[in-house]
Amino acid sequence: KLFNQVQEAKGNIRVFCRCRPLSKSEALAGCSMVVDFDAANDGELGILNGGSMKKTFKFDRVYTPKDDQVDVFADASPMVTSVLDGYNVCIFAYGQTGTGKTFTMEGTVEKRGVNYRTLEELFKIANERSENFTYKISVSVLEVYNEQIRDLLDASSASKKLEIKQASEGFHHIPGIVEAEVENIKEVWDVLQAGSSARAVGSNNVNEHSSRSHCMLCVMVRAKNMINGECTKSKLWLVDLAGSERLAKTDVQGDRLKEAQNINRSLSALGDVISALANKSSHIPYRNSKLTHLLQDSLGGDSKTLMFVQISPSEKDLSETLSSLNFATRVR
Ligand code: ADP
Ligand code: MG
Repeated sequence: KLFNQVQEAKGNIRVFCRCRPLSKSEALAGCSMVVDFDAANDGELGILNGGSMKKTFKFDRVYTPKDDQVDVFADASPMVTSVLDGYNVCIFAYGQTGTGKTFTMEGTVEKRGVNYRTLEELFKIANERSENFTYKISVSVLEVYNEQIRDLLDASSASKKLEIKQASEGFHHIPGIVEAEVENIKEVWDVLQAGSSARAVGSNNVNEHSSRSHCMLCVMVRAKNMINGECTKSKLWLVDLAGSERLAKTDVQGDRLKEAQNINRSLSALGDVISALANKSSHIPYRNSKLTHLLQDSLGGDSKTLMFVQISPSEKDLSETLSSLNFATRVR
């Protein structure tokens, strides 16, 4: 409730910043930390640039490396209620490779992330409301790589050309994509696992491949109010974006160059869309990338957007950290 009130007062875009801990190897190598969390409770983050100079950034939330998956989800969960109330929602993680995007969204088996917890909460609230509402929930899992959509729930999809179409009632959809109907969280887990393993197929290095593609979960919720017969449809996107790091100079050729340009273009398109929305611009350039075109229903209008900007605490990543923080500030 409070979140929704705050949301109305402040617009529909929230930005949460999460910093991962120093890794073991960074700690062993004596890497210094450049992030200061003294005012984290006030949503402020300090960056120590060159010893004493400090630049501060303000977000709706700042998580320190000590905050865990439960802390993070506690702040994201009001979005879940919104989905069942009929709003479209988009939650995504942005940042350099290795900063914890996948950790935040997917998590690990022991420390499950936002994707799993969100669906768990969806089923929990749907059950609580089951006297007055019926819900149908379905999940699609896809990947966008080099501006091409791949259905991760369909083994034959490599040979299919998947395109985005707009249905008469306005919703965007991808004809032919698998929408797996799920009735409980166990079935969701199976679908998520199937999606993950499909990602590995055809790539010789899974981590590398996944850092260069956008991994996207689309959850459709169809609700029927049994008292007045009203039906609503809402769409929730959960997105683990490709790494935002700039290309090393030594890598600027061939396939790597093409990949990097596509990632660059789609991430800037995302930034452009969100900042156009934040500035109440009359033209929102959704069509500039597959990513923004796919997310169109859940970005803007009365939909709610939550961005996790993921950062590293380490001095060696300072320039990428500043670039991510600037991106996140621009969209806020
Ligand atoms: P990305 O998806 O952005 O490339 P990952 O999610 O793969 O990054 O994270 C890189 C490594 O850091 C992984 O080993 C992950 O488990 C670890 N990590 C990231 N964030 C955290 C965190 N908040 N707490 C503990 N470990 C983390
Ligand atoms: Mg990742």
